[in-house]
This record gives sequence, structure tokens and C-alpha cells, in this order.
Amino acid sequence: RASPAPSTPSEKDLRSPICCILGHVDTGKTKLLDKIRQTNVQGGEAGGITQQIGATYFPIDAVKTKTKSMAQFEKQIFDVPGLLVIDTPGHESFSNLRSRGSSLCNIAILVIDIMHGLEQQTMESIRLLRDRKAPFVVALNKIDRLYDWEPTPNDAFRSTFQKQGRGVKQEFATRLEAIKVALAEQGLNSELYFENKNLAKYVSIVPTSAVTGEGIPDLLWLLLELTQKRMSKQLMYLSHVAATILEVKVVEGFGTTIDVILSNGYLREGDRIVLCGLNGPIVTTIRALLTPQPLRELRLKSEYVHNKEVKAALGVKVAANDLEKAVSGSRLLVVGPDDDEEEMMDDVMDDLTGLLDSVDTS
Ligand code: GDP
Repeated sequence: RASPAPSTPSEKDLRSPICCILGHVDTGKTKLLDKIRQTNVQGGEAGGITQQIGATYFPIDAVKTKTKSMAQFEKQIFDVPGLLVIDTPGHESFSNLRSRGSSLCNIAILVIDIMHGLEQQTMESIRLLRDRKAPFVVALNKIDRLYDWEPTPNDAFRSTFQKQGRGVKQEFATRLEAIKVALAEQGLNSELYFENKNLAKYVSIVPTSAVTGEGIPDLLWLLLELTQKRMSKQLMYLSHVAATILEVKVVEGFGTTIDVILSNGYLREGDRIVLCGLNGPIVTTIRALLTPQPLRELRLKSEYVHNKEVKAALGVKVAANDLEKAVSGSRLLVVGPDDDEEEMMDDVMDDLTGLLDSVDTS
């Protein structure tokens, strides 16, 4: 069975990119995530998609299976070992995670309901993404709600769109245009992703349906394309650790634990770690590195697998002493042999200032 941290070594030894989903309430963030997670029943196993701590991991084979219908339109490159999608969609979870040093997401999906256009939290999300200079794509969701839409489940957008009637195509074009104008009013140039010739200046729009799965192959393909082509430097394995605290939780038998997204490097049992605490820096030692038992729902409080070592990118639960006052959204640092612990304690406390600053201004 798939181990919790599968790592097919890729040629260039890149790590998996990390993706977050945000947008207005009811635009379909949760549903989209569920649909992406759904294994392709016809194709048998979609290659061991695993539920991790706070995230879902898609090994590259699963991504390949899910993007097959893109082959007729685009070249496919698979240099990364997989894709890690953060499970907590929504504005709040994202805005909590905006400490200065946090390098949590490589790319975000901003979900917009094609029937509703830009809404209040869409604007807030855009501001957030812009403040953090976070690359993102727009999923223009609920295309199946266009009048007379004829669904072809899980099809690539262009393939299903060309089969639609004239009225559907017209309505799509009208709504798309209105949304592009609204985005322009927010200072964003945008273009349908397959017509986008300038990825640096224009945001790519992917039409999707979280109900029929149409456009999902496109979305996954684009996430890989953009991260691999434009961010391969960020995806290189580093010797140093990049990790962000998602949540602080009490777990029976383990006391207070922190759920961490490890975006780069390794974490090992016994590592000395420094993190930001409400009342000052916390310095402690990793007692256990926990990942969910394969094929079990994490929320059922089932037993965990203990790991001696975990490798980015993944979600992992860290058990250690003195975690009660840990601040979610802040970084976790590992003290190396040559590191100055005092300096790291100062460094990590900057996150608190960063977090409080951003709370104040929102
Ligand atoms: P969230 O608040 O952004 O997480 O939105 P949800 O995923 O909870 O979806 C809100 C509602 O919209 C639910 O009733 C979904 O079933 C519905 N929904 C989401 N995506 C789609 C879609 O692509 N098409 C249609 N027709 N309904 C959708």
C-alpha cells in the first residue's frame, strides 16, 4: 500500500508543488476539491491519492490519469513527483496563513462562480493574492449551469465546449467577457488559459464544473504546467527546511500537536525546532512525526503512522512538548549544527508581527 510520503524520484529531483484554493463562499471550492480527489473508477486505481494531514497528495500517476483528455490539446510535462493540495479551502484559512516568511503555496486557485461573477470575498482574495505576490489561476466554476449545457463528464473543456449548442456558446462568451471586464476593474488582465500568450501579465481562466468534472483535466494540467515551467527554482530540493503551521490541536495520547505543511527539506524525529509562540519563541524537540494510516479518514481520530523522517512536500502532525501557545500561520524552523538558536528565535517571532499586522489592516 502507498506509504504516506510517496516519492518517485524525478529526473530533476523537484519536489511537489503546493496549491491552495480560495474564493467567495458557495463558489464551489469544497466541491471542486472533492471532485479532484475522486479517483477515476474506470481507470481503476488513480495511483494512490492519499489523504494527508491538512492536505491531499496526488502522485504524478494520478495526475497523469486525470489529465489524459488534455493530450489532444497540449504537450504534457511531468517533472514533479506529484501535487499537494491544501485541504482547507476558503478565505479565512488562507488569510491566516500569511506570515511574512511563509512559503506555503506555490500556486493558488481562485474560484469564481460563472453565474455570479465577482463577489465580495473574490475581491478580498484578489487583494490577498496580490499582497503576497502569489501566482494564481481562476477556476470559472459551474459551467454546467449555463442554460442547455450538455455535460460530458470529466472531459477537457475545449472538447466538451465544441459540442455545445450555439446558445450555450453565446451565453458563455457573454459571461466570460463580463467577468474579464470586472477583473480588469480590479487591475487584473485575464484570458482563457489556452488563449493566454503572456503568462506573466495575464491571469489564466479555466472554465470548470465541480459537478460534472468538466475542465478539471485542464485545471490540473495548468497547475503543473505553470509550476513546472515558471517555478522550477522554487521546487528544487533545498537543504534547509521550509514549514508552516496549519493548526494547533490537542490529540488524545499526544497532548498539543501542530499540523504542519512541510514545503521543503526534511523533518526528522529528534529534530530541535523553533517556532513562534503567543508569549514568545518556543524551542522544543520533535517527539513524533505522525501521518494518517493509509485509507483511513483522518477525522475519525484513527491511529497514526510514526515516521522517523518525512520529506517535502507533505502534511504531517508534529508531537512535541510546549506547543500549547504555537501560532498557526507561522513558520517552523529546524536548528542545524551551525545555526544560532537565539537568532532563529528572534527571526521566527517576526512572523507574529507579520500576522498581527495583516489582521489589523484587513
Ligand atoms: P464553497 O463554499 O466554495 O466550498 O462551495 P461548495 O463547494 O460548498 O458549493 C456550494 C454549492 O454549489 C453546493 O450546493 C454545490 O453542490 C454547488 N456547486 C459547486 N460547484 C458546482 C458546479 O460546478 N456546478 C453546479 N451546478 N453546482 C456546484
